[in-house]
Amino acid sequence: MIESEDDLVVVGGGPAGLLSAISASKKGVDVTLLESKNAIGRHEHCAGLLSIDGLKSLNLLNLPSNIIQNKDIRGSKIYSPKGELLVVQKNEPTAWVVDRAGFDSHLSSQAIELGVNIRTSSRVLNIKKTNGHLNYILGKKSTTQKFRSKMVILAEGRFPALNEKFNLPSPLRNNIVYASQFIMSGVKDIEREFVELYQGNSLAPGFFGWIIPIDEKRAKVGLGVTNPPAGKSLRTLINTHPIIKQKLSSAIIEKRMSGAIPIGSYIKKTYADNVIVVGDAAGQTKPTTGGGVIFGGIAAKIAGDISSQAIKNEDFSSKFLSEYEKRWRKEFRKNLDVMKIIRNYLNSLEDEHVEKLFNLLNKPKIKKQISRFGDVDNQAKVVFRLVFNLRLWPFLLGSGIRFLFKKN
Ligand SMILES: Cc1cc2nc3c(=O)[nH]c(=O)nc-3n(C[C@H](O)[C@H](O)[C@H](O)COP(=O)(O)OP(=O)(O)OC[C@H]3O[C@@H](n4cnc5c(N)ncnc54)[C@H](O)[C@@H]3O)c2cc1C
Repeated sequence: MIESEDDLVVVGGGPAGLLSAISASKKGVDVTLLESKNAIGRHEHCAGLLSIDGLKSLNLLNLPSNIIQNKDIRGSKIYSPKGELLVVQKNEPTAWVVDRAGFDSHLSSQAIELGVNIRTSSRVLNIKKTNGHLNYILGKKSTTQKFRSKMVILAEGRFPALNEKFNLPSPLRNNIVYASQFIMSGVKDIEREFVELYQGNSLAPGFFGWIIPIDEKRAKVGLGVTNPPAGKSLRTLINTHPIIKQKLSSAIIEKRMSGAIPIGSYIKKTYADNVIVVGDAAGQTKPTTGGGVIFGGIAAKIAGDISSQAIKNEDFSSKFLSEYEKRWRKEFRKNLDVMKIIRNYLNSLEDEHVEKLFNLLNKPKIKKQISRFGDVDNQAKVVFRLVFNLRLWPFLLGSGIRFLFKKN
């Protein structure tokens, strides 16, 4: 068996793992990335809605044009359970829709160009520490090569198995949203500048439904629920919702996909001696929308940077690596906390209360505030503005009290 000793091993070839590997190798670190699937970027398992500001912070505004499906998203049309419409919009585009398989494949090519040794068909079953070295135990179908390193970044996605080997927590299983999505053509009455969101706990318990336009006739139509199977709920939504039914009456399903998203917010500790956890494996996804690429990517950049410093200083102690957690928390923890409160609050509302809330938010002054301060990644900004709006107080107080009683 060939022995390979690297500075850093990254486990998982999703965006968080790939961006960690890219960030570390840009600092001169030798990186091996182990991915259990036999190829990276073959399956699309995400809606690929990414904020332009987020892409900018990840230096990814230069994505190849064949990966970008829609560059024009500048707002949302949000529907209440009874079909009341709330439109939130900016004057300029704020998000892109990308082909997620192509996106991962592009990141993988970037990593290879930088010298990252990507090994697919390599599932890591366990990591054992001996004499300060981490030894990787791979699954039977994996390569016969043996890997060792002093530092590891764990980026296994939503159901991580390795966090616990380092006594680190994993995202809570009871805070997972199960999602199903179709790519459909022949969709009617959509605008390429607006994503459509369908709220209502009877419709999509614990989450929402969406139509994300690729162009004027093609779209990603999906739904997330906390009680699977999501595929069945998506079919019900498509066949029964008065607005969606009409838009999809002559549409054809081109592709189907499903997946899961941890929405219970971040794990309480994301580092230990020799290890850092990033992305969905660390619960760095937005509890409101389930978006995980941008925050996971920002954390991945930091993880790569801190790992390179640890390697340079030969200090793999938990104390040194704690800087990773300090930095990612400073970047977006406040937003995740606010989003978690919004998610819990929305999930506590009966559909009739959602209707009342829509009614209140649909006032010109409030809509203007939401449009002005609303931000896909920085959702705390608009919430703080709205909380100070006196017209919302009676409703917020009433539903807030119900929420607190329901929670406890
Ligand atoms: C239907 C749906 C729609 C979504 N839409 C959006 C969206 O519009 N915008 C957005 O930002 N986010 C979206 N998300 C969330 C987004 O897909 C995730 O947040 C993102 O993929 C997380 O990246 P990651 O690298 O942490 O994990 P993943 O992308 O899950 O990658 C983890 C990788 O690790 C590999 N792996 C796991 N265990 C091992 C092991 N032991 N050894 C080796 N390899 C291993 C897996 O095979 C996988 O390739 C959506 C998710 C779903 C399900």
